[in-house]
Amino acid sequence: MTASSVSLMTGALFFTVLFSSFKPEPLTILANAETPDKVVSQGTIESEMPVSGEAAGSASAITENASLPAVIENINKDVIMADQDSEKRNPVTEAAVNVEINNTESAFDPSVLSEVYLKIKRPEGAGMAVVTDDYLYRTVSIDIDNANVKTISSNDITRYYNGHEYTGDPEQILLEPYIQAYLSGNDVINDDIQDEYYDASGEQKKKKTKDPLLATRIIAGEDGRLKVSFVLNTVYVPTLYEDNDSYYISLKRPKEVYDKIVVIDAGHGGKDPGSFSFDGKTSEKSVNLKIVNYMKDFFDKQDTVKVYYTRTTDTTTYLKSRTDLANKVDADYLISVHNNAYFTNEVYGSEILYDEKDKSGKSKALAADMLQGVTDVLKSRYRGLNEGSKIYVIHHTRMPSVLMEVGYLTNDKDLALLKNENKLKDCAEAMYNAIMRAVNGN
Ligand SMILES: [Zn+2]
Repeated sequence: MTASSVSLMTGALFFTVLFSSFKPEPLTILANAETPDKVVSQGTIESEMPVSGEAAGSASAITENASLPAVIENINKDVIMADQDSEKRNPVTEAAVNVEINNTESAFDPSVLSEVYLKIKRPEGAGMAVVTDDYLYRTVSIDIDNANVKTISSNDITRYYNGHEYTGDPEQILLEPYIQAYLSGNDVINDDIQDEYYDASGEQKKKKTKDPLLATRIIAGEDGRLKVSFVLNTVYVPTLYEDNDSYYISLKRPKEVYDKIVVIDAGHGGKDPGSFSFDGKTSEKSVNLKIVNYMKDFFDKQDTVKVYYTRTTDTTTYLKSRTDLANKVDADYLISVHNNAYFTNEVYGSEILYDEKDKSGKSKALAADMLQGVTDVLKSRYRGLNEGSKIYVIHHTRMPSVLMEVGYLTNDKDLALLKNENKLKDCAEAMYNAIMRAVNGN
């Protein structure tokens, strides 16, 4: 991303992008990794980003907004039925709720709305909407049938929060680079952008807004379809309702909805391949992702733990977006899945990094249990626990976190394990079991 595009993205924007054909927005950034001619061997903690000072303040921090009227409209409208079961699905881009319009005379019950919600004026003649949740980017979107891009503006979007009501443009705010990249569809990722953000955000740390809406993007497609994306100040669980005049997106905090929350992070991705096997054919990012998706198969079969994934596809993913997600959903644990590399074939085995500064001891306890489970099922060498508090994803998260290094791509024996789908499933099951034991306190 260029400097000019950064400044372009730096406001409270309502920018409209017109596409000739409508298709689901590329909410995740796909990129083909280049396979290097030579093996990249980077030691035990290959490409985790070094810690540089304290975490920057949240970019959701903007100016105080205390003068809003404390009015919530009395809503008495038609009932809208929502499919609650779909909330339990866990893809990164999540179809949160499918909504049906119920045209009976039943009254719309405003108590179904959370204390925080958005009310969007329904464009003339617009049809049903579907809501999706791109939680890594704190973005909730609705796709509306039979709408027209010219009929929605910032004045049509009202935010209700803590007894306040506000309509109009969001405050000027500096969005994180990973959200700027997401909004622009730009798949460029580099540390310079992150550094710029850290510096620029310093002055904004103490400013806060209560407005849940930070920016909006509107995309028009064929047949009058409209996608309206709302960048929010934190991660919410959205539920969509609608009546004849409006769409309502009820926003609850994850901990209001889910008792136990875990974030699972497939290391690297997209333009960041991580390490490689010596033949260059097996990339770390792909092995990490396979393990995480096998873990997802296990988590999808239970409903006591809500899991947020930093990625479930081959997407370029900022480190800060990973730790922001874990912090903003108030996760009980973060588990980052990686694989290792070394300069020679001789080094092999499984190891795990934990937060030695975690006074609760939960990070170390999970690390010990997880490593034992993984080495048991893989029959891999037990390399032990390592202190990891300086690793980015461990340092910048507020909950117990671990980083599992399953095996060495640069060792023949380990590589054979990592290319064996059944072994990867066994590994995923062992990690799943360790997480469930940790979350359930046994
Ligand atoms: Zn890695």
